Amino acid sequence: MSEGKSFVVGVPKETLSGETRVGLVPGVLTLLSRAGAKVVIEKGAGVNAGFVDREFEGKGATMVSRDEVFAQADVIVQVRTYGANPEAGKDDLASYRKGQIVIGFGEPLAEAGRAKEFASTGATLFALELLPRTTRAQSMDVLSSMATIAGYKSVLLAASELPRMFPMMMTAAGTIAPARVFVVGAGVAGLQAIASARRQGAVVNAYDIRPAVKEQIESLGAKFVYMELETTGAQDKGGYAKEMGEEFLRKQRELMKRVVAESDVVITTAAVPGKKAPVLITTDMVEGMQPGSVVVDLAAERGGNCDLTKPGVMVETHGVKVLGPVNLPATVPYHASLMYARNVTTFLQNMVKDGEVHISIEDEIVRDTMVTRDGDVVNPLVRGALGLGGRA
Ligand code: NAD
Repeated sequence: MSEGKSFVVGVPKETLSGETRVGLVPGVLTLLSRAGAKVVIEKGAGVNAGFVDREFEGKGATMVSRDEVFAQADVIVQVRTYGANPEAGKDDLASYRKGQIVIGFGEPLAEAGRAKEFASTGATLFALELLPRTTRAQSMDVLSSMATIAGYKSVLLAASELPRMFPMMMTAAGTIAPARVFVVGAGVAGLQAIASARRQGAVVNAYDIRPAVKEQIESLGAKFVYMELETTGAQDKGGYAKEMGEEFLRKQRELMKRVVAESDVVITTAAVPGKKAPVLITTDMVEGMQPGSVVVDLAAERGGNCDLTKPGVMVETHGVKVLGPVNLPATVPYHASLMYARNVTTFLQNMVKDGEVHISIEDEIVRDTMVTRDGDVVNPLVRGALGLGGRA
């Protein structure tokens, strides 16, 4: 870094109801300072995640009012920008200024209209949902970090609702059979759910339409459920699932019915990027489960994998509980914030040269995540979602 050059990074407190995470944690401040950043944080911003003001101050941050964060920062780091915080986030629109860089979740495709509103602030928005799934971007991948936490927590939710224990136990009162868990969708969240359920001693079955995942499922000690389905081509070049037709999904549901009926817990995580989650568990299938069984639908925020799912509430039918948890990472805010902050710090370090932030659209990571700049929506995918052609 050349002598004297620096920029200011600001962290406002999150304002969505129930959002307990914070954009940066004290542990990353030394790295940011080395990159040339001075950090200002809204007083009390980290308290709900377990990070108190004096810890931030101990690492060189200055605690200020919310207005001061917006006024001083060249770069604002949030967990939820306006797109992902439509009500309370609207109040901030008047506080951003032209040229200010804003980094966070923003639901840029699902809520493209809000990206357009945000553009009118003149600020440059980077939405982390749009990070490419490349090796270089892996250490910035907030979606993977949050999916890891959701997968872990889904198992704890299931275990606490289930009238059975997870592990097998041989006791003087006889042998207790292990719980049977079926995980549908073995991406980042699903694989973590498998690992967590195994750690609790459950017998785990799992399925994913991407055949490449079979080995990963087995390496975690779970059984891959084989289904007579044509899945060649179910994965795109980026490693994601492709959308399957309704006939395929009907057949999949039919084949899964027996495994679902024999499971105490079903955890669903199936998703197709940019699309509504596929419905894989019908009411009929839930009613085929033993009373006391539990379904945890991690796709609840994306439309749900189960017919009965209601986001944020528990539905009970025929003695089976169907949970559709929302914002699970906020229920583990310490580690969720820590992982988020490390990812964002790497993202920011990638843009800093000689103590200054440079926006280089030659860099795929920068180009793909940039949503707005100079008053326009510039991201082609978001422009597409808005029905606007090409680049601004
Ligand atoms: P995701 O949240 O989009 O989807 C979750 C899972 O649902 C996927 O595994 C998908 O195959 C599965 N699915 C979709 N339709 C299904 C159906 N009908 N039945 C069963 N399962 C279905 O995925 P994700 O967790 O974000 O990651 C997907 C892939 O991307 C994985 O291979 C992961 O390893 C890879 N990835 C790569 C990087 C990187 O290289 N930087 C980072 C993260 C993830």
